[in-house]
Amino acid sequence: MNRMPTNPLNHLNFSGGPGVLPESVLQQVQESISAVPEVGLSILGISHRSDWFASVVAELKENIRLLLNLPKDYHVLFLQGGATQQFSMLPMTLLKKLGPAAEYLHTGYWSGKALPEAAREGPVRVLWSGEASGFNRLPTNDELHFSADAPYLHYVSNETVEGLQFHRTLGRDDIPRVCDMSSDFLSTPCNAKDFSMIYAHAQKNIGPAGVTVIVLKDQLLEDAPNNLPGFLDYKAQIKAHSIYNTPPVFAIYVVLLVTRWLLKDIGGLSKMDKINTEKAHLLYQSLDNSNDFYKGHAAVVDRSKMNVVFNLPTKALEAEFISTALSAGFSGLGGHRSIGGIRASLYNGLQLSSVEKLVDFMEDFRLHHQ
Ligand SMILES: *Cc1c(COP(=O)(O)O)cnc(C)c1O
Repeated sequence: MNRMPTNPLNHLNFSGGPGVLPESVLQQVQESISAVPEVGLSILGISHRSDWFASVVAELKENIRLLLNLPKDYHVLFLQGGATQQFSMLPMTLLKKLGPAAEYLHTGYWSGKALPEAAREGPVRVLWSGEASGFNRLPTNDELHFSADAPYLHYVSNETVEGLQFHRTLGRDDIPRVCDMSSDFLSTPCNAKDFSMIYAHAQKNIGPAGVTVIVLKDQLLEDAPNNLPGFLDYKAQIKAHSIYNTPPVFAIYVVLLVTRWLLKDIGGLSKMDKINTEKAHLLYQSLDNSNDFYKGHAAVVDRSKMNVVFNLPTKALEAEFISTALSAGFSGLGGHRSIGGIRASLYNGLQLSSVEKLVDFMEDFRLHHQ
């Protein structure tokens, strides 16, 4: 069939989320709205009970297993409710009202959102908080004292709003690690077997909103309660192969296309990381060479490769930067509503050439305003 031309502005989408997707994926998605080639029906009208959809779920699980090198004793689930639902579902499953406290890191906006949800279910200990310093850095290992009896440790690998990313794995090997990887999942190789659970919604880096990927070690559910609402019960979801109720068929299909792209077009997560590192390096270099016109928010060692957050000398200049950029075709550069400033998100689907264009634009803007 004839593919519609793609919108050239898609290349310059720096949105924090939902984020940019690879061009070849968008083309296949367009086609699938009319008809998925191997089925002959629109993706929006295919039954979740069809053999075809069962094969989509099976292939997607397999692709995630391959990309993460996942051992056999891990489950892969596709759930709804976003990362936010995991903020509750996790403590509902693992936290006991009268038991020891779960350990949480408070490193930014999103880890902060997880805290009150956990505290509703049982005791929580905040191991470290970056609030006093405006969440502009992450803790060093010397600042973290993990206790031996916590039911689990929870942290966010990449703070999407502040642009802070852990470039190491935290915690003790004898305490289950649970990590919200919503904004850097499948952006870089990950030692998945060091985690008891990883969760990541699709809409930052791997697809549209509507589905959340959960990778979960079987052992984690050994003492899980049996009286949870069915929808919020990992064991029930595992038993139903992620089709407990009508799943988001479209969103799951798009994530499948993205994992195929990662495996076949990119060639795996090491190659993806190489590209992402190059993109981030280019942009941070332009901040560092700007004579303090563009000031990075994050401490240099904790800089995120996914979200580059920075400020200009005044709020007025920031507003002018965003509107001038928009007229030049760059979208999604406004910082998160909670902290303002500028945020350029460099998710997997964003090409290096787009970052080169942004860096040229920024240099030009600086020369006119500094
Ligand atoms: C965006 C984001 C969330 C919120 O996810 P929802 O799917 O909207 O619930 C949670 N965690 C991180 C790290 C995020 O970037």
